[in-house]
This record gives sequence, structure tokens and C-alpha cells, in this order.
Amino acid sequence: MPVNILFSARPELWPEYEPLMRQYLTDAGLDFHLAKDIPADQVDYIVYAPNGGVQDFTPFSQLKAVLSLWAGVEKISGNETLTVPLARMVDGGLTQGMTEWVVGHVLRYHLGMDCHITQQDGTWTPDAPPLASQRTVCILGLGALGEAAALALAALNFHVIGWSRTAKDIPGVTCLHGQDGLREALSQAEIVVLLLPDTPATENILNADTLALLPKGAQIVNPGRGPLIDDDALLHALNSGQIGHATLDVFRIEPLPVNHPYWVHPNVTVTPHIASETRPVTAAQVICENIRRGEAGEPFLHLVDRDLGY
Ligand code: NDP
Repeated sequence: MPVNILFSARPELWPEYEPLMRQYLTDAGLDFHLAKDIPADQVDYIVYAPNGGVQDFTPFSQLKAVLSLWAGVEKISGNETLTVPLARMVDGGLTQGMTEWVVGHVLRYHLGMDCHITQQDGTWTPDAPPLASQRTVCILGLGALGEAAALALAALNFHVIGWSRTAKDIPGVTCLHGQDGLREALSQAEIVVLLLPDTPATENILNADTLALLPKGAQIVNPGRGPLIDDDALLHALNSGQIGHATLDVFRIEPLPVNHPYWVHPNVTVTPHIASETRPVTAAQVICENIRRGEAGEPFLHLVDRDLGY
């Protein structure tokens, strides 16, 4: 019997993923049927994205695992109809893209680039930026994406503080955890990067209290998820000067509504959830490796802890 694999993601992705997955699954020696439409009670694996249409997993009576194309799984993690393993996406291409985006936006702040791009008014102010070693960047979240960004910034000599739920040891990065660790990390952070998942424990992690811990004028880069920030508290902190600038890629409602104050705030840069994306060439390999593992009785990679929500 072939392994039945349902591709349930945006239809535009199918032409990219189909040939890659066929190649990888063939290379793995699997007998498979890969399609966008398979009777639910025959499906073994679902290649999943939240916009693919499947919300109720009850009819998938022989399902072995759901393999998410997205790194963030907040839209599926709490789905009570899902009773089989859920794997999330950890993809080298996605990680590389995020590292480049984070480094770019941190360097924009560190070098004060805006001043010379937007204020060409004839005033000669020869103030050179400090070296990266004199700048403290705090990364909240030291998972696949946060660790890679932290290492890249440390390689540029930034003083990098990372914060996570559990203790970590990352070369060149001061690793903190727990509530005391969060306070210590934020109190030094000139630039804060959020690479946490959206879970009940991380919602509004930047709020009026934690924003007040930051040095005055600190800058925020959020490619994590919108609910990590209390928007009203951030707008208040931006208006008071407590926060100097924020670059926001993700929002509670996406697309960000046209009348949202972020669009017109002079100290906010909005980017449309483009910090990084799953790259088919590398991601198809990750998905197919998990199918191979499932069929070989080996443990799945990148399993989500449904109790923690990530
Ligand atoms: P991981 O699951 O690998 O890492 C999550 C990190 O957050 C871990 O270090 C984890 O700690 C930490 N964490 C989770 N909960 C807490 C908590 N309560 N307190 C402190 N730390 C916590 O995720 P990724 O690095 O792969 O991705 C991070 C997020 O990036 C995704 O969930 C997604 O929301 C977002 N993303 C955004 C994209 C974009 O284009 N804007 C693209 C892709 C992802 P520990 O290590 O101790 O478990």
C-alpha cells in the first residue's frame, strides 16, 4: 500500500513542492501517493499550513502525523481534533532568511542609518556610530531562529544577551532564563529582538512593565508574532520616548488594518510579515525526512510540545 500524503497548503505552493517532494520521497525509497485531494480516511500524513483548508482532523482516521510548513504553530497547536504528532518547520532556508533580516534591521538601528537616509538637510553632524562591541542587543527566544540570529550578531561583535525558557549555553552569547533573567536582559538591552513563539506564556511579554525596564530610547525589532507585544503599551512608550523606534513584521491582525496607528507613527516601521519564509527546496527535504522517519518507525524531528504550545 502506498503512503498517502495530502498537501494542504496554499495552492500556489503545490507546483513548487510537488516535484521536490516526489524526488525526495523517491530517493527515500518510499511507495507513495502525493496529492492535493485524497479521501480523508485514507490519508497517512498531512503537509499542513493554516491557510490550506483543513481545520477539523476528526475525519482523518488513519492519520500518522501532521507536518507543518510553518515554524509558528499557534493556529494548530491547541486544535483538540488533532490527536497525532505535530511537527513544525525548522528549515535552513527559513533560518538563513531570518538571520539576514534581523542582522539588517539591527544594523540599521546600530549605525543610525535613518538619520542619513531621511535627514539630508544640509546639516553636517560628523558623529560616528559606536562599535558593535559597545552595543547590547537582547534576543528574546533562543530556538532555531533566535540562536542563529544571536550567533550572527555575536560574530559581528555585538554584546548579545539571549533569553529563553530553559537554560542555554551558546558561545559568545550571555544566556539568561526565567523571570529574573528577563528583567536582567531587558534592563541592558539597547535593541530588543523578539523571536519567541505565540503561546499563552509569551502573550504581551512586552507590556507597560517590561517596556519600562528597557533603557530610555531602546529600539524593538519584532519578527516573532504580534501578540508578543501589548500594542497600546508600545504606542504609549513610543509617544513618551521610552521606546525610540520599533520595526514590526507581525501583528495581531494581518494584514495590519489600514487605519492602525502603527502605519502612521513616525517611529514605527511596518513590514508585511516578510522577515523570512519557508523555502521549498530545503523545507520539502525536512518534510520528506519526517515521512521517511514515520514509515521507518523512527522518532519525528521538530515535534511540537502541545502543552507548551511550541
Ligand atoms: P523555537 O521553538 O525553535 O524557539 C522558541 C524559543 O522561544 C525557544 O528558545 C524557547 O525556549 C523560547 N520560549 C518559548 N516560550 C518561552 C517562554 N514562556 N519564556 C521564555 N522563552 C520561551 O522557534 P523558532 O526559533 O523556530 O521560531 C520562533 C518564532 O518565530 C516562531 O514561533 C514564529 O512565531 C516566528 N517566525 C516568524 C517568521 C516571520 O517571517 N516573521 C518566520 C518564521 C517564524 P526554550 O529553548 O527554553 O524552549
